[in-house]
Amino acid sequence: MTEQHKCVIIGSGPAGYTAAIYAARANMKPIMFTGMQPGGQLMTTTEVENFPGYPKGITGPEMMEELKEQAERFGTEIRYEFINKVDLSGDVHKIWTESGQEIHAHAIIISTGADAKWLGLESEEKFKNNGVSACAVCDGFFFRGQDVAVVGAGDTAAEEATYLAKLCKTVHMLVRRDEMRASKIMQERVMNTENIIVHWNTETDEILGDEFVNAIRIRNNKTGEKTEIPVGGFFVAIGHKPNTDIFKGWLDMDDAGYLITEAKSTRTNIEGVFASGDAQDNVYRQAVTAAGTGCMAALDAERYLAAKGLH
Ligand code: NDP
Repeated sequence: MTEQHKCVIIGSGPAGYTAAIYAARANMKPIMFTGMQPGGQLMTTTEVENFPGYPKGITGPEMMEELKEQAERFGTEIRYEFINKVDLSGDVHKIWTESGQEIHAHAIIISTGADAKWLGLESEEKFKNNGVSACAVCDGFFFRGQDVAVVGAGDTAAEEATYLAKLCKTVHMLVRRDEMRASKIMQERVMNTENIIVHWNTETDEILGDEFVNAIRIRNNKTGEKTEIPVGGFFVAIGHKPNTDIFKGWLDMDDAGYLITEAKSTRTNIEGVFASGDAQDNVYRQAVTAAGTGCMAALDAERYLAAKGLH
């Protein structure tokens, strides 16, 4: 049987849970579909030290549990299901769960997040959270005074390398070609930072260590020469992929798939559909900024429903 709801939230990271808290407190009776990884990217993070309100830090999974509790306390209904199809053609939006259930909603809040891209090495998987990270702002602090490596050559990698250079002794930047993709200004910043060493034409052969990372073996793809460099941290910065495939053809997105919202709002090109968190943000990508846009999406949805006389 088809269900009809006022407000459906797709995705359960900090953006989704914050939208749920606001929507539930505004009596919109939100239904949240958690997706494949309930809690989102923070479920794979250890210590979160930069989310305001946790002076002693908190683990990612604990924080998500607290956000979930807070969302449920006000009446959010959480369903551990994945949405795999949408039809946004009418006034009432239609979505389908993987199990085939059809849901109709007047307002949809998208908070499906993004996933970091990884190199695909076995050792990378083994050392995730034990020296391997995809977020310098999140984890750089744990490597203060140490030597680290950053792989990638886009704006993210350049930004992560210059950020880490302020905390770490030496930053080895591993660039697979003989030029960087990053913007000119970011490249200049990298080249003008004394403690960043750029390794051109260089790929990662292996990440080495016991319990924690203690070195990497790199390979020059022109000469085949292999070198070991001692490092405590290995940061992968080769891009992110927003989880927006199901909205292709319906919602405006940029070339990388990030949803486009109107300035100073979470409104997409379709009325009643709002986008929050990393699914629409390729610049800040922080838990706290995702939470902020989740709040905005719930307020935008509430105003939309009120203007339509549906709330
Ligand atoms: P990009 O796709 O721009 O860059 C990815 C980089 O990773 C490329 O240099 C690529 O190398 C490299 N790479 C990909 N796969 C591998 C691999 N397997 N091994 C080694 N290297 C690899 O992603 P970004 O996240 O850097 O940027 C995404 C978008 O966000 C861009 O438009 C960027 O401008 C924007 N951005 C803006 C910022 C700002 O304005 N402050 C900050 C961060 C991002 P290759 O070049 O050889 O393909």
